[in-house]
This record gives sequence, structure tokens and C-alpha cells, in this order.
Amino acid sequence: MIKTEGIVIGETRYKETSKILNIYTNNLGKISVMAQGALKPKSQFLATTQMFSHSDFQLRKGRSFYYIVQVDLIDSFYAIRENIDRVSFGFYMLELLNKSVADGEVNEKLFMLFKKGLSTLTNLDDEYLKFIVAYELKYVCFLGYRPLIDRCVSCGNSLNTALKFSKTLGGLLCSNCYMEDIGALNVDVNQVNVLNKLLYSSFEDIKSMRIMNDLLKDIHYLLVDYILYNIDRKELKSMNLLKI
Ligand SMILES: [Zn+2]
Repeated sequence: MIKTEGIVIGETRYKETSKILNIYTNNLGKISVMAQGALKPKSQFLATTQMFSHSDFQLRKGRSFYYIVQVDLIDSFYAIRENIDRVSFGFYMLELLNKSVADGEVNEKLFMLFKKGLSTLTNLDDEYLKFIVAYELKYVCFLGYRPLIDRCVSCGNSLNTALKFSKTLGGLLCSNCYMEDIGALNVDVNQVNVLNKLLYSSFEDIKSMRIMNDLLKDIHYLLVDYILYNIDRKELKSMNLLKI
């Protein structure tokens, strides 16, 4: 028997009454789980097999799938599914996860961030952009691509006011080092300050911060570009559905 904590990140109907779930877990990474009879009206798995549902699982490993022996719901995160704005950000977080983590790849810090992110999203009614920018920044760090934003990524010197961000080098370039990456993008001091603030603050503390929307939008596009470069993808389709 295998114990794991997991969140449902995908579902496929299987035969008449069953579901194959994709579950992101703390200690097994992404796994496929057969939920037998989950589509029956009186199934004991009804609540625990919905998208975003967060549960403690006891599993048995079969040849192609894990099978549920027992499951205890921790939080259904229903508030995400009931609201069109929250659900669009939730699906964006799912796509990011699905496109950046391979099956079976264990990353407990990333799991904790994903869980914390969903729980924060549950309580949001506005200011989604500020939340998702903070999430993207923390996410790319826990994925292993923390950008260097407190000194020059090339020479290591402290930063002057003229700056560029290099996605290929993974951080900021001072004006002496612009030539290290001719594709680097211009960024200003305000953007850099916001990045540093968001990186070192919890989601709770970020709620009370006041940050201009235009500034957040610029950082959002900068981070998405940086993430896509690092995970070797061209786009995140669900990004187009976000109201930002
Ligand atoms: Zn430099």
C-alpha cells in the first residue's frame, strides 16, 4: 500500500462508469490513477475525483495505473470550480504544471507551492494579476530556474539604473554587459523592485501590496517568456482566457 497526498489535475472517462485521473502528488510526482465506478451516482469517490480536489490517498500499484484503496478528502477547492475567473486561473496553473513537470518527477516544494497557490486562489475575488505574477515567479524558482535579480548575471556587479533582462542567461544585465545577450529585454527599476518584493513575500503579504496594473502586466509577459524558454514550450494556451 502506498500513501500519498494528491491534487486532481486531469480526468478522462473510462468505460461506462470509471475515470482515469491525473493526480499531482507530494511523493510520486504526476501519476495516473484508476477510479473505478467514480461516475456512478452513489460512488464513494464522487467528491474526491473532481478537478482540483485535494485528498489523502492510499493506493495500490497495478501494471498501468495506480488503484484507489482509500481516499480522504482534505479540500475540494470547490470555490475555484464555481467561479469563471478563478477557474480560468486554476486551469492556467494546471497547464503550466502539465507542461513543465514530467510524469513521476518528484518535487515536493513545487507541490507545496501548487497547493498553496490553489488555496490562495480559492479566496480571491479580484487582483488576480498580482497573485498570478507572484505565482509564476515562485513557480519558475522552484522549478529550478531562479532568475538572478539582485546583481548582474554576467559580471556580478551591483546594478545601475539602466537594465536588461536576459532569459538565456537567466537574470539581469548591467549596462556594461548588454552585449552578452543582444536579445535581452529592457526592464526598469520599478519592475525589478516589484520582482524582488514578490519573490520574498508570502501570498498573504502580497495581498496588501499596492502595485500598478501596467507594471504587473509587463512583468507577467516577461515571466511567461522566461518560463516558456526554460521549459522549451511555445505557448500556454489557457493564458488567452485570463482576464488581466
Ligand atoms: Zn554586468
